[in-house]
Amino acid sequence: MESAEVARRFLGFFEERGHTVVPSASLVAEDPTLLLVNAGMVPFKPYFLGQRTPPSPRMTSAQKCVRTPDIEEVGKTTRHATFFQMLGNFSIGDYFKEQAIPFAWELLTRSRDEGGFGFPEEKLWVTVFNDDDEAVGLWHDKVGVPLDRIQRRGMEDNFWSMGVPGPCGPCSEIYYDRGPEYGREGGPVADEDRYLEVWNLVFMQYERGPGESKTDFPILGDLPSKNIDTGMGLERMAAILQGVDNIYETDTLWRVLDRAAGLTGTRYGREHRADVSLRVIADHVRSGTMMVADGIRPGNEGRGYVLRRILRRSIRNLRLLGGEDAGLMHELTAVAIAAMGEQYPELVRTAANIHTVIDAEEDSFLQTLRTGTAIFDTAVEQTRRAGGATLAGDQAFKLHDTYGFPIDLTLEMASEQGLQVDEEGFRRLMREQRERAKKDARDKKTGNLDVSVLDELLTGAGGRVDFIGYRHLLGDA
Ligand code: ATP
Ligand code: MG
Ligand code: MG
Ligand code: MG
Repeated sequence: MESAEVARRFLGFFEERGHTVVPSASLVAEDPTLLLVNAGMVPFKPYFLGQRTPPSPRMTSAQKCVRTPDIEEVGKTTRHATFFQMLGNFSIGDYFKEQAIPFAWELLTRSRDEGGFGFPEEKLWVTVFNDDDEAVGLWHDKVGVPLDRIQRRGMEDNFWSMGVPGPCGPCSEIYYDRGPEYGREGGPVADEDRYLEVWNLVFMQYERGPGESKTDFPILGDLPSKNIDTGMGLERMAAILQGVDNIYETDTLWRVLDRAAGLTGTRYGREHRADVSLRVIADHVRSGTMMVADGIRPGNEGRGYVLRRILRRSIRNLRLLGGEDAGLMHELTAVAIAAMGEQYPELVRTAANIHTVIDAEEDSFLQTLRTGTAIFDTAVEQTRRAGGATLAGDQAFKLHDTYGFPIDLTLEMASEQGLQVDEEGFRRLMREQRERAKKDARDKKTGNLDVSVLDELLTGAGGRVDFIGYRHLLGDA
């Protein structure tokens, strides 16, 4: 079953059951507590909090999401992407658990001929929040899941909250058993590779108070109504339905992966490290493409930085596979646009713009690599001349800080020269820099800023100020 069909089926199922289909919101979150939309419910948060009236008490959507915290998992696990699509059904004060649970079960287990996903019942496991006996009752009595396939879990896994303050509630998750070749027996509590989490049903009924912790925070009280928020991972469903090992091998991502392999002359499935790189490239190119299409531009902070990091990691991984030429990103972006174009026709319409942004970032990073390489060569020469075998931490730091040279690149190039890198020294300098940045941020918050320079501007003591922003862009100088 194609990815686009997974979305169509999901939305169709809930539309037939009285849900209004709401188009995906932009990845750029309206919510000030978030940089990027990371779950299907984000655009609906004001409805849950009772701040706005929903267009309908029953809604369904396929929402574009980016989860930056998952970036290190990409390519290494079978199930994490930075960009993915979350399918969801939502009830704002309409139905609650007693309806959401049977809906989910029906869609997953109904045969494919009859519009469902056709999962065999015995492959499905569910988890519930610690003391949520009501949910256990519904899964067991109403739906018929045997008790030994219902597991209880704590705050970390089965209590969902979004934003501070924001709505929250216990959740219940559905896992698909991929079989003994994927890992240990014993349900999702024992092994989340074998038991793939596909769907999270959140029983949104409280408002959470402030606190940094994910597992320990005050509950302010009940929301205006009891609500349902669910999130099913489209890519994970596609992986199961297409009978492939991981999300990177599903139809859309595979096209990018396959082209990346072709462009770098790499065979997928031969060597673990190369496979990870190909999977990272496939995910990141698609992610970058979707972010640019939503108006994000590479930059040095906020979502611009997320985008820059994602694009540069793609280029880095291409280089690791021997793909060093300019223009590779252009080719791969074109494939991502074509692959996602059926679901997102705006990508095809704005392809020229997307290419302009990504090509420019590729140019600038390749330039960084060229300049950095010259500095790197000098550092190597100095180290050798001094009879050393280890590149100093401050040199690695300077390469990173001044020339935007990622540490893994420095490490790899040093090892090609038979040199070590003082990583510990590098990390210490990074820490010190972070501390300085934190202190600056604190000073800004507390107002401990040196504003004397503003006086000079105001009194003209610093000379005439010539605003060149209209003629020069940042970084042109
Ligand atoms: P995991 O435990 O596997 O990291 P999660 O519990 O963090 O997933 P939820 O926050 O419950 O995920 O999100 C709802 C659904 O969205 C998940 O059940 C999964 O199908 C999908 N999903 C979550 N994170 C990702 C991701 N990084 N890539 C692809 N799909 C994802
Ligand atoms: Mg997760
Ligand atoms: Mg989980
Ligand atoms: Mg989950």
